[in-house]
Amino acid sequence: MSISLEPVAVAHTPFKEKFAIPRQPALAPAATAEIRLLPPYDSPLALAGLEQVSHIWLLFQLHQALVQPNDAPKLRVRPPRLGGNEKIGVFASRATHRPNNLGQSVVKLEKIENHSLWVSGVDLLDGTPILDIKPYVPYADAITDAHNGIAAQQPELTEVLWQEEALAQARHHGQRLEQNVIGLIEQCLAQDPKPAYQTPSAERRYGVRLWDLNVCWHYPTADSIRVLSVEPA
Ligand code: SAH
Repeated sequence: MSISLEPVAVAHTPFKEKFAIPRQPALAPAATAEIRLLPPYDSPLALAGLEQVSHIWLLFQLHQALVQPNDAPKLRVRPPRLGGNEKIGVFASRATHRPNNLGQSVVKLEKIENHSLWVSGVDLLDGTPILDIKPYVPYADAITDAHNGIAAQQPELTEVLWQEEALAQARHHGQRLEQNVIGLIEQCLAQDPKPAYQTPSAERRYGVRLWDLNVCWHYPTADSIRVLSVEPA
């Protein structure tokens, strides 16, 4: 049996590539996005009542991690959380390579407009097709005594330092874009996006595209990051 799905919306987010996107939604509250509804759902009728809700679930297709028809099914994955060299069952992980490429994220609903929902705290790539939107229901969804031995708590944060000029550039572009550019860079880089197996040398440069900017950094020490420049891509 196969099922075909039609997106109800498309996410427009600051993340133009997969690298450096936080691994879960709550980790970067400064990551704002527009969820633009597609016909026939681009109507106030579809959103009536949603103004009473603070957070929503986004169900989406991880469209840049698509399993190809000829790929052998993967029963075990290497989650980044475990350093990328230990395997666990695909259903014990939220890694992106999964049977039907479905993703789910809870995000904060900031504002509702005619055809768009403005949200914050996203971990979605720009252009991600949204398959469904549901209200977060605190009494049922927030399980206070839940535990997860694999991802027991938020990973430790890496210290993020700024080259003076990079900070001025980030401030300037933040004003231009009307976005918290400094906050987003700090929140994303504090997750230490480099692959776990890489030992950074101070010479090596890393970069990522956020909004229309190239962010460049290095590792002055093994456990700190310094932002070197924030320039138009
Ligand atoms: N919160 C979701 C996603 C977790 S994985 C869930 O639990 O289902 C998070 C990673 O997904 C991010 O680090 C990013 O690199 C990747 N990602 C986000 N959007 C994607 C997309 N459209 N296609 C492929 N990978 C994506």
